[in-house]
Amino acid sequence: MNNLRPEETIALSDRYLMRTYTRAPVAPVRGAGARLWDAGGKEYLDFTAGIAVCSLGHCHPRVVEAIRQQAARLMHCSNLYYIEQQARLAALLAEHSGLERVFFCNSGAEAVEGAIKLARKWGKIHKGKESYEIITAFNSFHGRTLACITATGQLKYQKGFEPLPRGFRYVPFNDLAALEEAVNDHTCAVMLEPVQGEGGINVAGRDYLRGVRELCDRAGLLLIFDEVQCGMGRTGRLFAHQRYDVKPDVMTLAKALGGGFPIGALLAREEVARAFEPGDHASTFGGNPLACAAGLAALQAILEEGLAANAARMGEYLRKRLWGLASRYPFVKEVRGLGLMVGIELTEPGAPFVERCREKGLLINCVNGYVLRLVPPLTITEREVDEAAGVLDEVFKEAIKEKEGEARH
Ligand SMILES: *Cc1c(COP(=O)(O)O)cnc(C)c1O
Repeated sequence: MNNLRPEETIALSDRYLMRTYTRAPVAPVRGAGARLWDAGGKEYLDFTAGIAVCSLGHCHPRVVEAIRQQAARLMHCSNLYYIEQQARLAALLAEHSGLERVFFCNSGAEAVEGAIKLARKWGKIHKGKESYEIITAFNSFHGRTLACITATGQLKYQKGFEPLPRGFRYVPFNDLAALEEAVNDHTCAVMLEPVQGEGGINVAGRDYLRGVRELCDRAGLLLIFDEVQCGMGRTGRLFAHQRYDVKPDVMTLAKALGGGFPIGALLAREEVARAFEPGDHASTFGGNPLACAAGLAALQAILEEGLAANAARMGEYLRKRLWGLASRYPFVKEVRGLGLMVGIELTEPGAPFVERCREKGLLINCVNGYVLRLVPPLTITEREVDEAAGVLDEVFKEAIKEKEGEARH
């Protein structure tokens, strides 16, 4: 099949797709490692990695081969029956997380939706039928279904979609006292991202997460970690909570879980998972052979190629390079993150910087208006980090020059 020219893809998309996305004029047709190419041959260094999805880089050979082989053998099989790849991926996830049971779905929102249902069912059984409230954090992001936008502590995702389901309450992130105060007779769970992604790359404090765990134990609440973005090696350990030595009762995964292929998962401790009985929850495509073969190959690659350790190393190197820049540009307020989940907070809107980086062949994006988000593949090398830092340096330098020009006029 011949590819459309980038302009043709863009025109066709603008004509026929719903206007749910603000897209940059980039139309990649091929990817390898941290690089993307459009049909005209223009190359990009991809520090968005499909928003933390392509953690093994684009088209990792092990994932490609697993998909190729599985696609030719068996793509789909209903959960009416047993599925080998699903069982093997569940076993490997359980072994490495210490959470004994797994439910597979197809996306992050579905994983969170499942976590909400599990927490409510668990609450009903163990705390009474008025126990259904889940406390989440401001600036969190938990997906786009009605329950998930309600769990998300940001008004902008909820506006226009009312009435929203009941049973959620929000507290400031990294504020243990506020959380303690919010707990009441209706609370059944607390749900947090150990590192908030869409909310601006906000890293939970160590004492905070430990305090939250103790509070949940004391009050008899479930602790749910949404690791859809920060999981699967990105923060320098396979799961972000392992960097804190704080174990959740329930965890959600998606994004990088399939190495670029869509799959989500909900994990829980045995006693918690028991709240779900046959018939309580299901997904037609959840845990299909193809997605699980991709997930299995991706997880094995992350483990065998030491990618979490590389994320820790390269993340530190990237932040060091960025701090070097920060000191020279007054509009860079802070560089923060954990592993290869890195944010550059600016004192002005980030969108123009994203656009300039793109023009110079570097793909990044902006979250929460002011934070440039860098979530490159975990396979990234020092040279690629240098290249990205070089582009950012140029872009920042140009911005300074322009400001000086404006000041003179
Ligand atoms: C992306 C994201 C989701 C939603 O995942 P989808 O696959 O887009 O539904 C949920 N939680 C977090 C933390 C995310 O980053």
